[in-house]
Amino acid sequence: MKETNVICPYCGTGCGIKLTSHDNKIVKVTGIKENPVNEGHLCLKGLYGWDYVESKDRLTKPLIRKKDGVFSKEGTFEESSWDEALSLVVSKMKEAKEAYGPDSIVGNFSARCTLEENYLAQKFMRAIIGTNNVDHCARVCHAPTVAGLAKTIGNGTATNSFTEFEEHTNCIMMIGSNPENAHPIAAMYIQRALNRGAKLIVIDPIKTEFAQKADVHIQLPAEYNIPIINALINHIIAKNLYDKEFVENYTHGFEYLKEAVKEYTPQKVSEMTGVDASLLIKAAELYATTSPAAITHGMGVTHFNHGVGNVCDISNIMLITGNIGKVGAGDLPLRGQQNVQGACDMGVLPNIFPNLKLVSSAEDKAFFEKLWDCKQPLSTEIGIHKTEVPDAIMDGRVKVFYTIGENPVMSEPNTNHFLKGISKLDFYVVQDIFMTETALKADVVLPAVSVGEKQGCYLNAERRVQLNDKTLDPKGEAKQDWQIICELAKRFGATDFNYETPEEIWNEVREADPRRFGGITYKRLRELPGIAWPCPDENHPGTPSLYMDKKFFTKDKKANLVPVIFIDNKDNTAQAEEDLRKELNIPENYPCMVGSVDEKIDEKYPISLLTTRKVYQYTVGTMTRRSKALEQGGDSHGPSAEIHPDLAKRYNLKNHDFIKVESRYGYIAVLVEVTEVVPDNTMQMAFHYWEGLCNELTSGGWDYITKTPTYKAAVRMEKI
Ligand code: SF4
Repeated sequence: MKETNVICPYCGTGCGIKLTSHDNKIVKVTGIKENPVNEGHLCLKGLYGWDYVESKDRLTKPLIRKKDGVFSKEGTFEESSWDEALSLVVSKMKEAKEAYGPDSIVGNFSARCTLEENYLAQKFMRAIIGTNNVDHCARVCHAPTVAGLAKTIGNGTATNSFTEFEEHTNCIMMIGSNPENAHPIAAMYIQRALNRGAKLIVIDPIKTEFAQKADVHIQLPAEYNIPIINALINHIIAKNLYDKEFVENYTHGFEYLKEAVKEYTPQKVSEMTGVDASLLIKAAELYATTSPAAITHGMGVTHFNHGVGNVCDISNIMLITGNIGKVGAGDLPLRGQQNVQGACDMGVLPNIFPNLKLVSSAEDKAFFEKLWDCKQPLSTEIGIHKTEVPDAIMDGRVKVFYTIGENPVMSEPNTNHFLKGISKLDFYVVQDIFMTETALKADVVLPAVSVGEKQGCYLNAERRVQLNDKTLDPKGEAKQDWQIICELAKRFGATDFNYETPEEIWNEVREADPRRFGGITYKRLRELPGIAWPCPDENHPGTPSLYMDKKFFTKDKKANLVPVIFIDNKDNTAQAEEDLRKELNIPENYPCMVGSVDEKIDEKYPISLLTTRKVYQYTVGTMTRRSKALEQGGDSHGPSAEIHPDLAKRYNLKNHDFIKVESRYGYIAVLVEVTEVVPDNTMQMAFHYWEGLCNELTSGGWDYITKTPTYKAAVRMEKI
């Protein structure tokens, strides 16, 4: 028997798990009691979601699409040697680079890979290929959080830790997130706070389990977060409940904000949204007068054409009440995947290097050219966002696509558009542990390993770096992602990709970003259950709560209050932003934001589609659907359309009737589930299921700053 410590491969809570193995197989899974993130507790996914590691359809050899023994896009997959597969990949990348330039190659990397692998993947694309075309799943989840918090407090990460809820937080405002389903162990700390008497405000169109026990549930129409938050801010200012000392000493822009929200009285917003004004007043007063108060937010904040605006407005209410820079306060964006914060911090984004250095800055570029001993200058062009890739392929800008550990055929919005895009690629490489829906479309598939078969660090939603030990040997000839990337780089002639261990790569990360990671060594991570950045030296204990000195990560250390308004027609966004700037006399270099409903319901498509997730599945189900207890457990009967009883009655539908759901982008057939948790004229669908893939319905709408999809659509339905 062998025992090793790993990090749960699912959500961003980052629970510590002890894996016991025998004969290269996992035989026991237990939570690590000494790990403060989970204190030994695990949710369904962490406990039962491990069958996938032994799944019979794990990839064990490289595959090349061949016809008559040679590579052909019309061929079928045949097993190959690593040498043949990697040589083919490199020759196709070289061909594209020579014929169309380095920006014709795009890398789409993964929050399921370690920090070291993410660091190496972006280094490969930047230093070897010569492009900033790198991105990962933050683009489809929390990119607006990163950009929104950066505009207000200078950095897009969680300000505090989950564990602070239990003893310190006296009021929690949960906006557009359902942690009982998506982050159950983080939810445990929220529940413990409620047991102690903390107050709970939930802002969500769905009656989630937390909403059902909240002191105030604001069941807003989807996409109306801005009027709701503005109404709370309006009331807090009108009643003098804001923290004047904090606003005066630590922020800019209060007058802009005050003017911007003056029309959003609780009464007017009640008329606009149907939410009772007394609930808005109660929520505003609870949040402003119960200190410390914390906010959690999820995709119900970021998946809008104004995701950045929503995040700025959340930051506004946190700042004017001084609910930041205190233990138990702040904003905790609940990150979906285990290493999504980490992949951002490693620079797997088209505009930043590691250490938040800008690709467009000559000084930052020079720093990395020196660190990486670059043979060619690094590009200063901001890369392609991953949501732009299908269009960039169709207009001829992108020829080669390299995807590691993601399944975009399932996870990107408007599936048909994505499929049309990738069908035009010259060459598609997918690196994964399974023949996913995306790998099936590839030209070469490279077999990678699961979390139990690799060593490296993960960084959870609280900024805590934790070390994951290798438990099992890889299946067949599969390799760790960092090893595959090194092999590719060496075939390009690189001389500095000779890493022998992940620790060597980690030490380079520490050199690239000494302020945040300099003091986090493998030695310390073996002794401690994780360290939260910033941790600049080896005697530093790490920083679970940021901004305790009220100095923000902006240039002058003060936070920005960003005026955000809501308009009726999304086509007028740019003009509305300009008008707001003129009206409030906001200088060009100071941010202001505008939001609107992305796709309104109408007579033809009269129902709003919301896409969410279930507790026993994880994102597109690649791992959880191969884990028996999760796939067969709970109330799982696959994909369904959840609708309110009144809507069901109008369509003469009952539970488990079969319906066709259609949007402007596609259609699917699913079962009906009638439930009071969903408001009338709204449909809730989980996005885990290929056999009823809600992304065939979702639009190509996106946040106008970060290009993060809205994952929404207006739909219609009929009984079949
Ligand atoms: Fe894993 Fe998240 Fe569950 Fe913890 S809460 S066990 S990290 S899925």
